Amino acid sequence: MWYHKNMKRCNIVRVLFSKEQAKVLETLGDRCAALWNAANFRCRQAFLKGEPVPSYATLCAEFQNHPAYKALPSDIAQEVLKKLRKAWDSFFACLRLWKKGKLEKRPGLPRYWKDRRTGKRPVRLIPVKSPRSYSLDARMLSLTLPADLRDGNGRLVLHTKGVLRFSGTPKTLELRYDRVKKRWYAHQVVEVPEPERKAKPEKYAALDLGARILATLAIEGSNRQILFSGRKVWKDFLYWTKRIAEEQSRLARAGRKTSRQLRKLYQTRARRLRHAYLALAAEIARMLSQHRVTTLFIEDLTGIREGMDFGPKNILVHNFWAVRQLKNLITAACARAGIKVVPVEPRGTSSRCAVCSSPTGRPVRHKAVCKRCGYVWHADANAALNILLLGSSKGHGAEATPLKPLVLRWNRHRWVSRFESAAGTPKAASGSRMAARAA
Ligand SMILES: [Zn+2]
Repeated sequence: MWYHKNMKRCNIVRVLFSKEQAKVLETLGDRCAALWNAANFRCRQAFLKGEPVPSYATLCAEFQNHPAYKALPSDIAQEVLKKLRKAWDSFFACLRLWKKGKLEKRPGLPRYWKDRRTGKRPVRLIPVKSPRSYSLDARMLSLTLPADLRDGNGRLVLHTKGVLRFSGTPKTLELRYDRVKKRWYAHQVVEVPEPERKAKPEKYAALDLGARILATLAIEGSNRQILFSGRKVWKDFLYWTKRIAEEQSRLARAGRKTSRQLRKLYQTRARRLRHAYLALAAEIARMLSQHRVTTLFIEDLTGIREGMDFGPKNILVHNFWAVRQLKNLITAACARAGIKVVPVEPRGTSSRCAVCSSPTGRPVRHKAVCKRCGYVWHADANAALNILLLGSSKGHGAEATPLKPLVLRWNRHRWVSRFESAAGTPKAASGSRMAARAA
């Protein structure tokens, strides 16, 4: 089989600017916010009256003569409307989950771009629809401006700093303002052709996703499943959540809602979670390549598997997004390694035995015991193996009795087994680094 699908990649570079250019960017960003708010008002009114929320095409038609639309180049105005419509799409997706009882909190309507404290429109981002209106190379970003902001050459030309990691067909560009760092960044989507696959023999693996155990990997021909423990990752996440709550109550006492410190804490929490996830995704891609796996089956998250263990209730919503983020990162890492990722409907994968397909009992949360063959499973290992059997359509029946699964833990640098972490490499490494810093 040969695939010639295109993959989307994102280049991120920092954008440098002079004082005058900063003003132009701010004006553009403010106009984007104005259009967003005007169109969002229209959508919210429709939703609250029980009318259909306008589609992207309808929004474009209705707003093309609106002053907020006309104050922007059409490639920017259209992209703002497209983003707004996407925000409504995810709102409806969440609403469906909530109605099924799969989200604890009712999702809120897409928000206005407005600072709650000052009531001002914050400058957040400037989306540009297509490379007709911008050009980006290793040193320069140039952008079409609306008529009233044009000077000599009619374009805004900015220096950039950073490396364009991916080359391919340029697609949309987003200029995003980082309020904590007070910097602008350009995020450019490029389409790159997927690397051609050599005609390798098909070999399958499967991945089960969760919260307490973030991921469980089952590889065809291997009777030992690999578990990535979420314990350390969630502990760290909860620590930063606590710091955020402390800062929030400090702000509340001062009658405020947000602060730079608060945004910084949110960023830190997100960055640390992402670090563990990126390392996990890379480790999975590495293992799969090592085992010459060609296809990875991954559970379809459109409906969350029943009985998925999400831990304390208050982090349920976070976990839902986090599991999706992890899935996306793993999919991207596999695509780079030339491994095909195929979603599998995970029906019944946690309720029957992967050896004999009889129903299983759950004496303890993370254990599944087969009622017929008596095999005691780690519940996630059983689920991963069932996904593998479902995906490769081999019915049921694991090839050999599985061994005790291998558990990998996050040590804030790498995913390691208990054996490796006992060897003390990470401690020694960070110790020497600290010594070097002290010296
Ligand atoms: Zn059994």
